[in-house]
Amino acid sequence: MTRSRKMSGKKTVKQLSAELDELKGEFARFANAAATDIMKLNHLVYAMLDEQGKITKITCTNCGQEAVQADIEGVEQSEQCPHCGQNLHEATQTTLEMIPTEGDDSEE
Ligand SMILES: [Zn+2]
Repeated sequence: MTRSRKMSGKKTVKQLSAELDELKGEFARFANAAATDIMKLNHLVYAMLDEQGKITKITCTNCGQEAVQADIEGVEQSEQCPHCGQNLHEATQTTLEMIPTEGDDSEE
């Protein structure tokens, strides 16, 4: 009685690690599928917004990659470049400052 219980009771480390590997694979498949879906949705949403002119494209001054921001009221925008992590608002501000404004006070 006690002998058979001992045999079938606890799982061995080998069995557990095999199960863990299986779970890891399962999770990786799930994560991949979810990531692909999110990418598709993301692409769709931005394509829709772009069509409505609600997209702001900012070229990152640090890495030169284009960052896309949704121009929607109430939606918090990421201030970081998705490619390198540089602050995009800082980058935009510097670009705007470099453009000379017409009708400057000093000209009058
Ligand atoms: Zn960047």
